[in-house]
Amino acid sequence: MTEQSRPDVLVIGAGIVGLSTAWFLRQRGCAVRVIDRGPIEGTASTGNAGMIAAGHPPMPQPKLLGRTLRLLLDPLGPLYVRPRIDPALIRWFWGFRRACGPRPFARSMHALADFGRMSRDSFSQIVRDGAIDCGYSDRGWLEVYRTPAGRDRVREACEPERAEGFRIAFLEDGALQAQFPVFRSEVLGAAHHLDSAFAHPDAFMSGLAARLRERGVEIRTDAEAAALEIEQGRCAGVRLAGGGVVRAQATVLAAGVWSTAIARTAGVRIPMEAGKGYHLSVPDPGLPIASVMSETYVACTPMAGRLRLAGTVELSGINLTIRRRRLEMLPRGAALYLRGLDASDRLDAWCGLRPCTADGLPAIGATRRVRSLFIGTGHAMMGFALGPGTGRVLAGMICGDTPSAALAPFDPDRWS
Ligand SMILES: Cc1cc2nc3c(=O)[nH]c(=O)nc-3n(C[C@H](O)[C@H](O)[C@H](O)COP(=O)(O)OP(=O)(O)OC[C@H]3O[C@@H](n4cnc5c(N)ncnc54)[C@H](O)[C@@H]3O)c2cc1C
Repeated sequence: MTEQSRPDVLVIGAGIVGLSTAWFLRQRGCAVRVIDRGPIEGTASTGNAGMIAAGHPPMPQPKLLGRTLRLLLDPLGPLYVRPRIDPALIRWFWGFRRACGPRPFARSMHALADFGRMSRDSFSQIVRDGAIDCGYSDRGWLEVYRTPAGRDRVREACEPERAEGFRIAFLEDGALQAQFPVFRSEVLGAAHHLDSAFAHPDAFMSGLAARLRERGVEIRTDAEAAALEIEQGRCAGVRLAGGGVVRAQATVLAAGVWSTAIARTAGVRIPMEAGKGYHLSVPDPGLPIASVMSETYVACTPMAGRLRLAGTVELSGINLTIRRRRLEMLPRGAALYLRGLDASDRLDAWCGLRPCTADGLPAIGATRRVRSLFIGTGHAMMGFALGPGTGRVLAGMICGDTPSAALAPFDPDRWS
């Protein structure tokens, strides 16, 4: 295709999926417009823990159901489900339960492994080609444990990742503290996931938006999509909430958890639940690598001189209400592992919504229900890591590449 014959493309949503898609579309010579209802600072794509964890398993996992029940009964646990009778939530849990079986898990793990490698490479390529200053580090990440039960659980959970060819080193018997003295002496050890990376999400996202604008991509942050514009079985663009239609030859729906409602206007079903997570930041006590404290489920990532503490999954619908008690669990859960954590100097109390499908897999690709409509959403806890890869494959599909068979598990029509 010549540059003249490339489609002009509208992207709905300026999160990591939308902006990464815009990046690869622009690289391939497409004219691209991105619309967002804004502000784009403060969405899941900027407020996440910054881990680019290639090989990370999906949310539904074997043995998770028993553990989930225990976590739900613990008022200070990392999981909270607001009690309510909601048929969509019940269906979602049913699908989640099915996806926890060993066979669906193995299939999902395999699909995510290759995709995760490709996405990590796409991430570093954007950082390099765009010269984006976002603290990108390919040091990997640590999964830290302080109890024998935690050690056994982490070791077992690492097996599927190892089977997919990812390198993991176990730092035990003082090896963790020798390399990273910030860990308390009673911490037993850590699994070091060597094939992963981490970065500062706010800096990455603002750098990416700036590069896109320099390359001629229009990013509007005052435009809320109300409905997809369907004409004779083809998506012709989007109708805005404030009135008017933005037209394009191809439309990408990448509006995070809000994609469900927008897709419905074209008769496309993408059932998702919002998985609310929180972060706050404290002065960095000297942790040079992204780490997840495995017994308390708190992610700690060094970012611009501070340490971002992130975590918890709250299924309470689409809302941005901050429950203080859940926020408090973050410094408490991190201090059990780290020396010198000053929880009194905290900033940035924040929450954001992960777009979670029940089967733990994203929805990526063209829908067969409407022509010229492409979907990229549902990345749950892995969207920062998988956003760039999603952008790369969506740009390829829009430009006419034959989609790889390995993408079949991510079919956006699998609920129709
Ligand atoms: C606490 C926390 C920690 C996390 N940590 C990690 C991590 O370490 N690693 C990782 O890989 N992932 C992590 N994630 C998950 C990751 O952040 C998400 O999966 C990812 O950001 C989703 O990106 P997105 O582009 O799909 O959606 P979003 O970031 O939600 O972006 C969607 C955009 O669409 C816009 N929009 C919505 N509705 C409309 C509309 N009607 N019209 C126009 N625009 C609209 C929104 O304003 C928003 O800008 C974490 C998430 C949380 C909450």
